[in-house]
Amino acid sequence: MSIHDFARYPLTFGPSPVHPLDRLTAHLGGAQVWAKREDCNSGLAFGGNKTRKLEYLVPDILAQGADTLVSIGGYQSNHTRQVAAVAAKLGLKCRLVQEKWVDWDDPVNAKVGNILLSRIMGADVHLDPHGFDIGLRSSWADALREVEESGGKPYGIPAGASEHHLGGLGFANWAYEVADQERELGIFFDTIVVCTVTGSTHAGMVAGFAALEDAGGRTRRVIGIDASATLDKTRDQVARIAQHTASLIGVERALRDDELTLLEGWAGDLYGIPVESTVEAIRLSGRLEGMIIDPVYEGKSMAGLVDLVTSGEIGKDSTVLFAHLGGQPALNAYSGIFDAENLATRGRSRS
Ligand code: PLP
Repeated sequence: MSIHDFARYPLTFGPSPVHPLDRLTAHLGGAQVWAKREDCNSGLAFGGNKTRKLEYLVPDILAQGADTLVSIGGYQSNHTRQVAAVAAKLGLKCRLVQEKWVDWDDPVNAKVGNILLSRIMGADVHLDPHGFDIGLRSSWADALREVEESGGKPYGIPAGASEHHLGGLGFANWAYEVADQERELGIFFDTIVVCTVTGSTHAGMVAGFAALEDAGGRTRRVIGIDASATLDKTRDQVARIAQHTASLIGVERALRDDELTLLEGWAGDLYGIPVESTVEAIRLSGRLEGMIIDPVYEGKSMAGLVDLVTSGEIGKDSTVLFAHLGGQPALNAYSGIFDAENLATRGRSRS
């Protein structure tokens, strides 16, 4: 069995764009930095990493004859927005549990950005007071039961599509796509930098690159930057999903410890709360490259990349691929962080 044996329902435009970040590279003065852009991978509600994962879930959704997708995330979840878009595209209903994962005091937090888009696309959005947790949730199980009790045929998609048996395949395929793009460009990305929270993006990459390595490909580093601030839980989840996905796609060995790197230091103390380094990374990426990143995920992984390249931990001779996984709609709920006065009074510190 290999990645190519799994059914994939097209939701993306095709391979996502890869391009150099020349001005950021010059500014950092170290490794060559490129980006691969999941933020513009699809015409479905701005796309993102979940759209890619969902390509491998849709055949199962259709085979089961489900009529309602049931999923969960925070108020500003990018994942639930992408599930709502896929439901709309397939002509299915969508029931979303939006938990209070982030104690963010912006008065429009539950009104703008991702949650607004989900409402526009016709999802049945339920706010829930529970806090952040990347695992399986009782509120989600309740929603599944309620859909069933009202005569519907639900299909459950857990947070980030991570705790789903096919959730790692989208990014295992991403690894193959990178290898194809490298051949076309005559380049090799020895280091990948990815933001990690619920885990199946990072885990899928690890599985895909392990399969490529076993088929004779070169070894490379995938550096996960934790944005969950619950590091141990996230590391366990990545390891479990990576091993499961690897065996699905025919890797017949245990993954090595050096294949799983998850670094802390840029998440701050809490999921979803940007720290000074996050805001600096957002401004830097916008100012030098016109590339917009968000305060919950890629703002944190970009802050990690900046420090790792600047300190030389990622060497000068490296060619780095930054995985831009989407997420910009959430910026609408965080406008206050770009108000200098507001930032000073909040007194946030670098993690
Ligand atoms: N970046 C963005 C924009 C996301 O929406 C997510 C989702 O959680 C991530 C990164 C992290 O991906 P994962 O949850 O698969 O670890």
